[in-house]
Amino acid sequence: MTALSASNRTTAEWKKIDSAHHLHPFTDFKGLTDEGGARLIVRAEGPYLYDSEGTKILDGMAGLWCVNVGYGRKELAEAAYAQMQELPYYNTFFKTTTMPATELARQLVELTPEGLNHAFFAGSGSEANDTVIRMVRRYWALEGQPQRQVIIGRRNGYHGSTLAALSLGGMSAMHTQSGILPGFAHIEPPHWFQLGYHEDPDAFGVKAAGWLEDKIQEVGPDSVAAFIAEPIQGAGGLVYPPATYWAEIQRVCHKYGILLIVDEVICGFGRTGNWFGSQTFDIKPDLMPLAKGMSSGYQPIAAVMVGDRVADTLISKGGEFFHGYTYSGHPVACAVALENIRILRDEGIVDRVRTDTGPYFQKRLRELADHPIVGEVRGIGMIAGIELIRDKARHEFFDDVGKVGTIARDHSFANGLIMRAVYDTLVLSPPLILTHDHIDELVEKVRLVLDKTAHDTG
Ligand code: PLP
Repeated sequence: MTALSASNRTTAEWKKIDSAHHLHPFTDFKGLTDEGGARLIVRAEGPYLYDSEGTKILDGMAGLWCVNVGYGRKELAEAAYAQMQELPYYNTFFKTTTMPATELARQLVELTPEGLNHAFFAGSGSEANDTVIRMVRRYWALEGQPQRQVIIGRRNGYHGSTLAALSLGGMSAMHTQSGILPGFAHIEPPHWFQLGYHEDPDAFGVKAAGWLEDKIQEVGPDSVAAFIAEPIQGAGGLVYPPATYWAEIQRVCHKYGILLIVDEVICGFGRTGNWFGSQTFDIKPDLMPLAKGMSSGYQPIAAVMVGDRVADTLISKGGEFFHGYTYSGHPVACAVALENIRILRDEGIVDRVRTDTGPYFQKRLRELADHPIVGEVRGIGMIAGIELIRDKARHEFFDDVGKVGTIARDHSFANGLIMRAVYDTLVLSPPLILTHDHIDELVEKVRLVLDKTAHDTG
């Protein structure tokens, strides 16, 4: 077998073929071609990527918030290889299962918060969230309240790209392009820096949770089925909840009897210093979609963890649930996820993020708060946002929202660091295996990026 990297094609040839035939996700197709095509990533090791020109890049995003154990873990390749030889595929539909799927369900139940005793497998976070919608509607129909259809999400929440998942989410650009399905409503996220800066953060947290109650009243309490949110809103600009937010959200959900869906696709598997963001923020979800860090991105796999309230109804009253994916519980993906969980646990990676590297990462990043264009640094564990601002003293944001963020993002790429910009917030979500030295290197690069950005915009 010959790897494609051994081919004689030049980088220019690869780019030309790619531009001619490959439509990239979340990409301006023509814009990318006009820029000369996509950067070709050829290999990776630890937290570093290497492109076809040999440039070494520190991956401050762990791929797409997913490569939690870092790149180049041979054990994961070996787990896939062994499983492929033994049983490369079989489905879990027709009263069959496989050992990796069964064992993974057991381990997920053990790791996730109490009361989530069942797993339903999917191939991606989007599919997991489509599954969540199906389960929520089925639950209420079986409970004799089929009119409870509306799921409330949050503006700038991201739950995936299928039509159902983007309706659940609150990304206006996606809604504008494709419309949204009926049965979804959205509230503002608890973005203290943008929406509550002059208020006490704890009081603002209670107020922001109150927006859920307002929306329930507006929709009609008997029509609301569930509320969905990420523990920390990731792709929507790293919105870190005030300390009072989640307790109050849970109080409102209980008051109206609605289901609580906590989307752990980003926060799961150690990112916040606990196995799940729900443990960090003391949340008790009824349904919990998982993906990304579950296999560290080495295989596409996702799951919905189902709490007893929903599972008991689906199991005891439901009959056949007409839902599933060809790759639900794919044995190779499950085998890789199991090995990934073993690495995270046995190497103490999650514990280290909570007690050592996470606090160090956050401390070092907060040193950047003195920079003239940095308004706020927020986050926990190995997830952080750096919000840029035009005038700190007057708390004035940049006029053309997103422009300065994009300039910073481009400087970052040009200086060997992958950092994302969401509007004017720079986002970091690196592999969980970063050492103090890696963190120092990352922070140094971010400061350089901030200096260059301030220079360009000054
Ligand atoms: N949920 C959250 C919180 C996400 O961040 C994402 C992807 O970024 C998704 C769901 C969708 O996952 P996928 O891209 O695997 O469909």
